[in-house]
Amino acid sequence: MRSEGKKIVFKTDEEVEIVRRNCLLVSKTLTLVASLLKPGVSGKEIDQKAEELIRDHGAIPGFKGLYGFPNTLCISKNEAVVHGIPSDIEFKDGDIVSVDCGTKMDGFYGDAAYTFAIGEVPEETLELLRVTKTALYKGIENAIHGKRIGDIGQAIQDYCEKENGYGIVRELVGHGLGRELHEAPEVPNYGRRGRGVLLKDGLVIAIEPMVNLGKRDIGYDKDGWTVIARDRKPSAHYEHTVCVRRGKADILSDHSGIEAEIKNNPNIHEISLKN
Ligand code: MG
Ligand code: MG
Repeated sequence: MRSEGKKIVFKTDEEVEIVRRNCLLVSKTLTLVASLLKPGVSGKEIDQKAEELIRDHGAIPGFKGLYGFPNTLCISKNEAVVHGIPSDIEFKDGDIVSVDCGTKMDGFYGDAAYTFAIGEVPEETLELLRVTKTALYKGIENAIHGKRIGDIGQAIQDYCEKENGYGIVRELVGHGLGRELHEAPEVPNYGRRGRGVLLKDGLVIAIEPMVNLGKRDIGYDKDGWTVIARDRKPSAHYEHTVCVRRGKADILSDHSGIEAEIKNNPNIHEISLKN
């Protein structure tokens, strides 16, 4: 989602903690998703349980109704990049499924995403997931006071495109986050080191590489929402919300619960970081 032209709003420490509480609820919701995903389950079933969990914690689903999106989760399968609508179609062995979740409570949002691999997924696709997840952390390493937005983008782009030959989606980007889900600045997954908005302490941003196994070009599904890789090859998406700090970013969301749950779920592959 584009946020060009909006003013950047830096967060107080108290506000960062509210965003963190939201992000941890998002992480808890994605952990629930990790426990439920298996062949034969549908996106709609998972979406309903995710919504219940979020509301049970006194929050509201952050995406539902925003820009008219109908559900709690964005569930984007295989060649779908992002913004997939949960459906009655059952997941099957070999699917990769990006699940993106947001919550809102106490006036602020949280946002994170994870791509899951169900059953027998080709090694080529698992490698795409490992590289995309690793690229997220390469971006986060640059989310520090004194660097620029372009440092994040170039780190992700160089790793995915130059080193691994994948396609970085250009039309969709990470974003500032706070009282709005999509705030300034935009956080592209491509760019030039030393260019773009100066990163300062208290800037909260969602970093979310969207990486195609094939070419970077995208299109839209008939539903008008789901972004798909034009060549119909698999696409991966991992996201954390972080706060820019001096020396090291503070990662406000948390994938560790998801990954502990994946270890318990024989239907889902572990996706390790590359070194
Ligand atoms: Mg998201
Ligand atoms: Mg986001």
